[in-house]
Amino acid sequence: MNIEQRTRPRRAASGTRRPFSSLEPHQVRAWARDRRLPAYRADQLLTRFYRSAARSFAEISELPEELRAELESDFVFSTVETAHTAVADDGETLKELYRLPDQELVECVCMHYRRTAASSERTTLCLSTQVGCAVRCPFCATGLAGLRRNMAAAEIIDQVLAVNRGRLGEGGRVSHLVYMGMGEPLHNVDATIASVRRFTDPDALGLGVRRVTVSTSGVVPGIDQLAARGGGVNLAVSLHASNDPLRNRLVPLNRKWPVRQVVAAADRYAALTHRRVSYEYVMLGGVNDSPGLGDELGSLLRGHLAHVNLIPYHAIPGDPFTGASPGAIAEFRRRIRDHGVECTVRDTRGRDIAAACGQLRAEAEAVTRPEAIHGAV
Ligand code: SAH
Ligand code: SF4
Repeated sequence: MNIEQRTRPRRAASGTRRPFSSLEPHQVRAWARDRRLPAYRADQLLTRFYRSAARSFAEISELPEELRAELESDFVFSTVETAHTAVADDGETLKELYRLPDQELVECVCMHYRRTAASSERTTLCLSTQVGCAVRCPFCATGLAGLRRNMAAAEIIDQVLAVNRGRLGEGGRVSHLVYMGMGEPLHNVDATIASVRRFTDPDALGLGVRRVTVSTSGVVPGIDQLAARGGGVNLAVSLHASNDPLRNRLVPLNRKWPVRQVVAAADRYAALTHRRVSYEYVMLGGVNDSPGLGDELGSLLRGHLAHVNLIPYHAIPGDPFTGASPGAIAEFRRRIRDHGVECTVRDTRGRDIAAACGQLRAEAEAVTRPEAIHGAV
């Protein structure tokens, strides 16, 4: 019997509902075929789920009521719910703190950039892949709390859809994705790659691969897996130091995969995907910002398919660092460019809403669960 003629939808036992976003588009089509739905219903469902402002199956008004009820009984529409929203930069920066089904909190930051003479309008979303992070970089709010757990692919996908649904209501849509929120994406490589594929699937969100950037602190096998299965998205490597003694301190994962191995993996990525790799470098005053280190970084990357992005430091309450001075940043940049390596300085969005990686969550946790800050796994 065709579901469109049914009067009473089949009910799944409570607790067995799967997140709808855990299904790949071909699995959604199979689900629809099993119910003898016409093929266009699966198309409608996928389009409305991934690209409309609907916040529940009930709100997808193109679908017959029985089908909407069946979807409600089989699937969870979203695995994230808003716990807190903060706005900065005259409404151009939005920070969402999302609660996951087990009450864990993750955050994403959405930055809108107006059209300028040099660039078109864009809305970039910075998303999370883990609750916390095991790498424990000492300048990072997420690292301070250690790792609590990996996010499921559905949770990673749902945070983006939730932001989109909010923004779609105001006529906006996320145009670029950066995996630079909480967590080390390549420590959760399968879920990260599954989410990348969904975001770039024309049957799902349909973003161009050039609009998606995965950032890593240097998980070498993960970089190779992303090269093989990630469809050619942009890769950003958080280097922060060009020699092993300093990087061991700033990015403790360096003890496992040292600088040269990370750069070699990035070179393989560039060769396979024909994408220029971007190297992130947070500018810490008196730590990694000397002109000599600028020269060292420039000569490390000279002749590589690479670009350096200098990140002004966001102060984290209680950590021992200060940001490099504008003069030091300018000189550092000049030294890198002297080696023929392109180098830009990242703009600093959302300072007044603690928009650096993990900060909003850290503040919320400090209020609601003080033990979570230092007592993580
Ligand atoms: N774990 C991944 C992705 C998330 S961190 C990685 O490290 O690449 C995203 C970026 O934010 C990284 O480049 C990280 O070094 C940077 N970051 C973390 N804390 C920061 C801070 N306090 N100020 C400026 N940048 C920071
Ligand atoms: Fe983890 Fe990235 Fe933060 Fe380092 S900077 S602790 S890798 S989230």
